[in-house]
Amino acid sequence: MGRATSSRAVLEVLGGELPPDWPSARITLANAHGLHARPAKILAQLAKSFDGDIRVRIVDGPVGAVSVKSLSKLLSLGARRGQVLEFVAEPTIAGDALPALLAAVEEGLGEEVEPLPTVSAQPEALDIAPVISAPQAGSQLQAIAAAPGIAIGPAHIQIQQVFDYPLRGESSAIERQRLQDALADVRRDIQGLIERSQAKAIREIFITHQEMLDDPELTDEVDTRLKQGESAEAAWMSVIEAAAKQQESLQDALLAERAADLRDIGRRVLAQLCGIETAQEPTEPYILVMDEVGPSDVARLDPTRVAGILTARGGATAHSAIVARALGIPALVGAGPAVLLLASGTSLLLDGQRGRLHVDPDAATLQRATVERDTREQRLQAASAQRHEPALTRDGHAVEVFANIGESAGVASAVEQGAEGIGLLRTELIFMAHPQAPDEATQEAEYRRVLDGLGGRPLVVRTLDVGGDKPLPYWPIAEEENPFLGVRGIRLTLQRPQIMEAQLRALLRSADNRPLRIMFPMVGSVDEWRAARDMTERLRLEIPVADLQLGIMIEVPSAALLAPVLAKEVDFFSVGTNDLTQYTLAIDRGHPTLSAQADGLHPAVLQLIDITVRAAHAHGKWVGVCGELAADPLAVPVLVGLGVDELSVSARSIPEVKARVREFSLSEAQGLAQKALAVGSPAEVRALVEAV
Ligand code: PEP
Ligand code: MG
Repeated sequence: MGRATSSRAVLEVLGGELPPDWPSARITLANAHGLHARPAKILAQLAKSFDGDIRVRIVDGPVGAVSVKSLSKLLSLGARRGQVLEFVAEPTIAGDALPALLAAVEEGLGEEVEPLPTVSAQPEALDIAPVISAPQAGSQLQAIAAAPGIAIGPAHIQIQQVFDYPLRGESSAIERQRLQDALADVRRDIQGLIERSQAKAIREIFITHQEMLDDPELTDEVDTRLKQGESAEAAWMSVIEAAAKQQESLQDALLAERAADLRDIGRRVLAQLCGIETAQEPTEPYILVMDEVGPSDVARLDPTRVAGILTARGGATAHSAIVARALGIPALVGAGPAVLLLASGTSLLLDGQRGRLHVDPDAATLQRATVERDTREQRLQAASAQRHEPALTRDGHAVEVFANIGESAGVASAVEQGAEGIGLLRTELIFMAHPQAPDEATQEAEYRRVLDGLGGRPLVVRTLDVGGDKPLPYWPIAEEENPFLGVRGIRLTLQRPQIMEAQLRALLRSADNRPLRIMFPMVGSVDEWRAARDMTERLRLEIPVADLQLGIMIEVPSAALLAPVLAKEVDFFSVGTNDLTQYTLAIDRGHPTLSAQADGLHPAVLQLIDITVRAAHAHGKWVGVCGELAADPLAVPVLVGLGVDELSVSARSIPEVKARVREFSLSEAQGLAQKALAVGSPAEVRALVEAV
């Protein structure tokens, strides 16, 4: 792997070595928010009252044991409710310390704790009640439509297994042999994958995995730990995790991504050591079935290999769904835990438009779906041929169609897909791609690349929007009961003016007379807008910019209701329907079961958009929509009818959205929008549009 894992780095992660024969004791953590700062502090204080070394680890966790006396090390474990903690203590104090620690954890470490449910045979993370059974062949399931398209293929179930293994081994010779056998088996499996892979890029991934398995740096570190009495599993996982963490800390985003590969092979070898079979990845394009996916999991997927995504939990506007749409992988989310019980290889038909899953469909259903998939493909091809033409309604009203991107690398394909500008640059993704906050020069270079790629088209940049479901690992935010209702977006950056000013300076410097629009996320009050505007105007005195507009995102209902006041001061509004919907309907955008109801075509959300547009137009300002609703074919005529001037969607959706605008006249759209404002549910709005 080219990068050495120094033994010091390993020791740092582990907080030292564990001598053999230390007594140990286990207990399941029941605290609702896991081992966060307050309970961890109590645990560390208790440990400090014993004169000797005490360590703890998570039994199924990848990280080695850490000192219980160190608060930061305890927090770094990230122990969650339901995970089993294993304490080990020096023999001289173990008799007193272990029972005291166990009793303290059992009592909740200063917090009221709900007892844990009785242990089921299933892995606890999946939360599967015993009555649930796999969906029957021929059955049909309704789930949340998260990314359009029809996918057909075998199910590949990917469940995070819970591995339980002893910390100490029998003897170093036996453990070494076990590890060598496991490595040989995994190497053989990967060789098979390399031979079967059609795509060069995929073969290369597996070749890298083999190189990692053969890396002498890794095996030397493992050997040292085996000699100290650790089991093959504990030694292997400790070294892999330390190497992955070191890789993640590298400045280079590409190298940092290899941490995921290391963890991937780490788990493969661990599964082999624990005798747990992991399902073989099918060689034909498959439907990936998971409990829940994170945005980075989706971003790592290879669209040539993964035909579709099906998750037990999650919501349509969760960021993972946004990434799936951007990659063009049809996806259904929130299908319920039963889908995790499907046998790997079961034939699935996934309809990402209607939110439907067919299990082992009959030949006639498959045939119909294939025809529909091909028709959709043809429709998209026709739209694609006209992607560089403007989007004019039948009566000649122009609607601007822009692209949402997360990094400069996305500009070229956005322009290629017909984008007339960038309507949302999610700058937090640039921050997330770095192990530390990128400095001003790094940011300026990145923003410059975006403007360069746009060749004079406008760029709407959103200032850093972290918090809620988008944490920054290097920017810890105090624990909150409701992070979505807490310090996020503009609230957070106004509290850290240095970071905000650095970003604004980088943006202003990058402009060079090109059209730059800056907007602030999550504004809920006039004061927040004015504070952000004043900061920008102050910096603009130092760094003049010729073509600059300042605006806000309309994501919080209070901002929409205050639009008549704000419209006098802002240059534009951009409606973030993902957040606006979640806050208007009080439904978490990623909620496992409710988010299907968080439909942006809800008349209550449309009322807020209507207020916003009317206020903006009364003052000669423009309004865009950059939430996922803008790409929904049924929403396009309603938004245009409400008077929205610009739709900003993922690059891939641009041709389809433009084609959709060309299908109706402005007056038809206006009539539709007025009817939509008068009904009581999103289903009625959808029915109205479908009836046209
Ligand atoms: C939104 O909330 O609609 C939006 C565009 O922002 P994000 O999805 O990044 O929160
Ligand atoms: Mg938002």
